[in-house]
Amino acid sequence: MFDRKPPLLQEEAFSLFPLAGIPAYLCTMKSTVRVRFAPSPTGGLHLGGVRTALFNYLFAKKQGGSFVLRIEDTDQTRFVPGAEQYILDCLEWCGISPDEGPHQPGPYGPYRQSERKPIYRKFAEQLIQQGHAYYAFDTPEELESMRERFKSESTPSPQYNAALRGSMRNSLTLDPAEVNRLLSAGTPHVIRIHVPVGKKLVLNDMIRGEVEFDTSEVDDKVLLKADGMPTYHLAVVVDDYHMKITHAFRGEEWLPSAPVHLLLWEYLGWKQAMPLWAHLPLILKPDGHGKLSKRDGDRLGFPVFAMDWYDPRTQELTRGFKEMGFLPEAFINMLALLGWNDGSGEEVLDRSQLCERFSIERVHKGGARFDFEKAKWFNQEWIKRKENIELLPSVEQLLVQEGLSASAEQLVVLIGLVKERCQTLKDFIPQLDYFFKDPVSMDWNSISSKWDSKKNVFFEEWVKQLSELSEWTAVAIENSFKQVAGEQGIKPGDVQLPLRIMLVGGKFGPPVFIIAQYLHKDVTLKRITSALTVLNHAAAS
Ligand code: GLU
Repeated sequence: MFDRKPPLLQEEAFSLFPLAGIPAYLCTMKSTVRVRFAPSPTGGLHLGGVRTALFNYLFAKKQGGSFVLRIEDTDQTRFVPGAEQYILDCLEWCGISPDEGPHQPGPYGPYRQSERKPIYRKFAEQLIQQGHAYYAFDTPEELESMRERFKSESTPSPQYNAALRGSMRNSLTLDPAEVNRLLSAGTPHVIRIHVPVGKKLVLNDMIRGEVEFDTSEVDDKVLLKADGMPTYHLAVVVDDYHMKITHAFRGEEWLPSAPVHLLLWEYLGWKQAMPLWAHLPLILKPDGHGKLSKRDGDRLGFPVFAMDWYDPRTQELTRGFKEMGFLPEAFINMLALLGWNDGSGEEVLDRSQLCERFSIERVHKGGARFDFEKAKWFNQEWIKRKENIELLPSVEQLLVQEGLSASAEQLVVLIGLVKERCQTLKDFIPQLDYFFKDPVSMDWNSISSKWDSKKNVFFEEWVKQLSELSEWTAVAIENSFKQVAGEQGIKPGDVQLPLRIMLVGGKFGPPVFIIAQYLHKDVTLKRITSALTVLNHAAAS
């Protein structure tokens, strides 16, 4: 079970005493840093979510601290089976597995909020005792009619707040005896925070500095729902406190919730232990207008999820970076640089370099524009840097899926020949498949207009010479090619492209004589001969 003992105050747990001129968060003692990634298991993991996890991880590892995974599953209506395992798989693929979490129990478990349900009510009741919260008995119909009644042009969706709470059915408006009667009759109710009017709150954000809020803008959020489950707002504060979280990184979209959390930290008497906050900039659409959504990915043809996500409710499969052929090293490298850089201009950094260099001071305040071309560039850089043997298992698997196979020895060599040209692992297929089967499509157009009998004679003669060639190496093949071209009075450059098309099917691939070497003699001769038949047939008609 979780630790019910009151945790140490933040000052006791780690040093937060600001030294002259040094921000408090840099004064923390290394080993006590505890950060959390707190996703709700509701679907695929958006790259914004992975970046939040990554920044938490990098910060914790740099400080020698702990990275905690907490599953925020209090909204049972949004719970999706399989989503928790999927989140864990994504983190593992990225190489940023948590130190503590539902599957790595630590001293502050349980790590699923649904399993912590018994703890929350007591704090909600405590807030009621203190006058900072109240019971609300309004039915969904009553809430709906309130919205209708108070709707105006200036307030299209009225909130349950200081202005309206007095007109609703709650423990502030009802007679205490009636409240007790309703409670003992088990009448469905929620507990709402009593937000004060006109109070100025200041959040000291590690990225944004001081952010001010006026509580008049904040509504009386539900803290405990009718089913006894806490809402996110109560649970996040109670759990961050009990799990001794020292620094909390989350997306900018949570900034509007911060005043409610600040009030709760204060009302529960835990202000001194409040984590230091960092609200990360949004990841923007490629055109820079608005937050990047899954729909943008669908529309523009790129993934926004870390891994393939199959939604059991809609039976929809959404593609992920992993299955699109991205290396995890490239994926986290690209994500780390969405909203952060180390100022050195160096872009290709591995996980340990990222951990070493990561600093909150260099996280940008403004949104970071997602650029799929740049993401592919990172992947290409990482593919180039990988040893051929490291790429072998993935490439082998992709070839098998295509019904192709090669010996590991041969494949390692071929990977080395083409890897510079691959932006994703999937690119290895079109870059390699002609080594294992005849090209599916032939770019005849690039040669047919310049095809003439001189070229035909050259190839016919060269095929004869090649079939006699005793040593089948790229150098020997090239020498014979040049020799026959010389004898025929033809420029080798004029027949090199036709040769490539005959062997590969298109204008791509490594040096053509190397291709011929690895195709071996029989396949090379066969592809040239059948190409000649097609070309001559086309020329005659
Ligand atoms: N459960 C929230 C989410 O799904 C966590 C927000 C936070 O980190 O406080 O993103």
